[in-house]
Amino acid sequence: MNKIRTRFAPSPTGFLHVGSLRTALFAWLMAKQNNGDFILRIEDTDKSREVEGSIEHIIKSLKALGLNYNEGPDIKGPYGPYRQSDRLDIYKEWAMKLVDKGRAYSEIYSEEELQNFRNEAKQSKEPFLYRNFRPKKLNGYKEGQALRFKSEPKEYLYNDLIYGDLKTPKEAIDDFIILKSDGYPTYNFAHIIDDYLMKITHIIRSSEFLASVPKFLNLYEALEIDPPKMATAPAVLGPDGKKKLSKRDNAKDILEYLNEGYLKDALISFMATLGWNDGTRQEIFSVDQLIQKFSINKVQRSPANFDEKRLLYINGYLIRNLDLDELQVLSKSFWPKEAQNYQESYQRKVLALIQERLKYLGEIEALSLFFFKELDVNKNLIKDNNKLREFTNEQIIKMLEASLEVLLESDFEVDDLQLKLNDLLQKLNQKPAILFSLIRIATTQSPSSPGLFETLNLLGKDRSLNRIKQQISALNN
Ligand code: GLU
Repeated sequence: MNKIRTRFAPSPTGFLHVGSLRTALFAWLMAKQNNGDFILRIEDTDKSREVEGSIEHIIKSLKALGLNYNEGPDIKGPYGPYRQSDRLDIYKEWAMKLVDKGRAYSEIYSEEELQNFRNEAKQSKEPFLYRNFRPKKLNGYKEGQALRFKSEPKEYLYNDLIYGDLKTPKEAIDDFIILKSDGYPTYNFAHIIDDYLMKITHIIRSSEFLASVPKFLNLYEALEIDPPKMATAPAVLGPDGKKKLSKRDNAKDILEYLNEGYLKDALISFMATLGWNDGTRQEIFSVDQLIQKFSINKVQRSPANFDEKRLLYINGYLIRNLDLDELQVLSKSFWPKEAQNYQESYQRKVLALIQERLKYLGEIEALSLFFFKELDVNKNLIKDNNKLREFTNEQIIKMLEASLEVLLESDFEVDDLQLKLNDLLQKLNQKPAILFSLIRIATTQSPSSPGLFETLNLLGKDRSLNRIKQQISALNN
């Protein structure tokens, strides 16, 4: 059997959301699990859509996710170049083969004339088919004019690895442009030539191309090329489940997620399970498990929904399960700047305390700032607490003073803090949700924190007592 070769063939339009990268991931997994090759090909034949810097952006995104490719624009391979704009001569040569066979011809109509044909078809409620207007005598290739494929309409029965057996009618087949007037090929033509020359065995692409497959099949026949196997990945829909995911649905670029502190493994697991599972209830997969278990023909045919909460859940789960060494390495760029004044061993202790609550690494700053910086008293924290707001200022001050007294006697070891503060609860006949929340607010200036005793222990006696005093004086003013 031929070595399996799959490819990711993005157009450099500057933005890669989870939907586009999911296709890349499926193709990568398929290559990986078969000891095959995964190829990156840049499809830059539509200059009007191109965004500068996109190619670097694509390469950076794939590398950051660990979706390494064997051949690509920056890695030499036997079937390069891997950027379509560097392959124009190749497309021209293949287009000429079609012209010579009488299967391609120069466009004779102006855009206006074509529009008139479309309008006429619309009025008579007929589907517009270009081939109905095909000139009787076909012109050969003319520089500066578009070149069209002369189709031979027929029904097709073909297999898609995800959608299964598909039957398409003659009407799905029409003449279409293969070389534009600027000499650049269309996607419809270029990808067929490239997949063939690059020995691609499986095409995995998104569903927007499904309707065009009959046209492609017709072209494969004219070129006498055996089509690769095809797998069409159903669309990823926006959170409302109605239309295709786009920037407007808050779909972020994949690098943006990584910059916010989403783990690459979380993104990979999330993307793989957009429309795929292994038949069990398992929701989170490691990359190795995916390589073992992923199967393209188990991808669901119905569109998948983009649910960012699920990504957040997977990310939080993976963060909680990291060992502290790994977490410390991954956290490097997420600390508040004040953390620089503290030793790594202290940062590590902070990390151990907040790990449980971290959903993405970008939260480290907000969750840990009070460990590194003296914060101004925020009186709203007491007002916003629906239990504490029932107390008078005086009562609150009394509770803080009582806490101060008890804490003065503590050695600030966790056990001792626990013992002393629990005693105080009894003495004041108060609930933890009241007394402990108050101490927490005073010492962290935040409504929530890791366990109170552990937090006080790490802050240390001086800072904790000073902060309580500061809170009392703010309340007295
Ligand atoms: N260049 C196409 C796109 O970015 C790729 C389609 C394919 O994978 O064949 O949508």
